[in-house]
Amino acid sequence: MAKNNRGKLLYKQPQRSRGICPICLATRIKLLETQKKSDGTVLKVCKRCVHASPIKVEAALDVTAPIAFRRRHKKEFHQLKAQ
Ligand SMILES: [Zn+2]
Repeated sequence: MAKNNRGKLLYKQPQRSRGICPICLATRIKLLETQKKSDGTVLKVCKRCVHASPIKVEAALDVTAPIAFRRRHKKEFHQLKAQ
């Protein structure tokens, strides 16, 4: 079986196939799988979120917007996530 999610090939993809997962919000994780929202938008998600429940998929955040993920903004960020 070919290893489609490994190696040099990933580095040719946009952002080297890595980014922030819109569902679990893990940073610098490989975004190789897709999930579809009910409105038809396709999300790139990580391997941990392939089988995420539809509720979680609907609650996915827009990770293209600048969000402070770490350190002093962390508290603020989690409040945003809870909304
Ligand atoms: Zn994820």
